[in-house]
Amino acid sequence: MKLRVYRFSPRVCVLTRGPLKRGVNRKPEDHVSELRKDPVINRWVIITTERGKRPTDFVPAEPQGEAGICPFDEGNEHMTPHEIHAVRSPDSLADRRGWKIRVVPNKYPVLHVEGSIDREGAGMFDKMNGVGAHEVVIETPLHYDPFHTRSIESIVELLEVYQRRMADLHRDIRLLYVLVFKNHGVRAGATLTHEHSQIIATPIIPKRVGEEINGSFEYFNYKSRCVFCDIIHEEKRFGSRIVYENASFITLCPFASRFPFEIWLLPKRHMAGYMMMTRQEMIELAECLQVTMRRLAAALGEPQYNWMIHAEPNPSLARNPWPDLKEHYHWHFEIMPKLTRVAGFEWGTGIYINPTPPEEAAAFLREVEFD
Ligand SMILES: [Zn+2]
Ligand SMILES: [Zn+2]
Ligand SMILES: [Zn+2]
Repeated sequence: MKLRVYRFSPRVCVLTRGPLKRGVNRKPEDHVSELRKDPVINRWVIITTERGKRPTDFVPAEPQGEAGICPFDEGNEHMTPHEIHAVRSPDSLADRRGWKIRVVPNKYPVLHVEGSIDREGAGMFDKMNGVGAHEVVIETPLHYDPFHTRSIESIVELLEVYQRRMADLHRDIRLLYVLVFKNHGVRAGATLTHEHSQIIATPIIPKRVGEEINGSFEYFNYKSRCVFCDIIHEEKRFGSRIVYENASFITLCPFASRFPFEIWLLPKRHMAGYMMMTRQEMIELAECLQVTMRRLAAALGEPQYNWMIHAEPNPSLARNPWPDLKEHYHWHFEIMPKLTRVAGFEWGTGIYINPTPPEEAAAFLREVEFD
């Protein structure tokens, strides 16, 4: 398959950039990334000096095939950092064959586990060490194994791995937020075609998440109900934007979709955190996700996409600014096929132009034939 490969991707997964130079002796104080706060809109940005590149590095390379050996294939475990966690047969050894899912640190993390998170002023500006975690979840040992073709059982295993990693990272009270996300396809930010997702834990609450929590808090203050529960109730009344539902989960194209075929997947039972699911709910989540991704693949010809899990911040948060968070926030997946490009107007205004009404997208996804 011909892919347009960029020599340097300014996005987060850059595992392809050659072998890790061991013995470089990175000391905790040699922090190679830094968080900086925009003083106007209080948005944090991660500046990764480790990837400090010359302007020419941003010029797209000539399109090329996928060259070389895939570090995520079974048998190439030596090409990744040591695994943090794996789903593997009991008689197999760590960093060897015999696994189904592996979690490894990102070779080129945007944030680093070591160090303190001291906040510092630089004149009027705020900055912070780039402390956090950046992990890669290799979802399958097979090089070609698209998500929508996988069994419910294997999806459950993946969803459980996300839970385990989240629980583990939540033990580190420096890490206020853990985001699980997936970039599928070059346009969606992936630099390797082998199916993987990523986990980044940050020492701050990301702006997008904070906006959702603040919004749900205001709605709760006003109506004493969860806005997401109300959305589910309302969408069930209309029906026109629902893609799929089972007993515990629902997928829908949101009323104010930013992108064509944007999909939200929500638990029907109110819960703020991804860790709160029962075993049965986990199975139904896997089923709902599988059917939704199958429909998306059938409708749009296996599109490139991003997805992310938006759930409550670290529950052991020392200074929780939202004491009623468990009542008003409601975790969910957001799934965004990469069909349009965000351009000047969107960057300039924060207003998205979506050429596909969500009602049409949902009808299309409901009616598409798939096996
Ligand atoms: Zn591979
Ligand atoms: Zn709710
Ligand atoms: Zn969200």
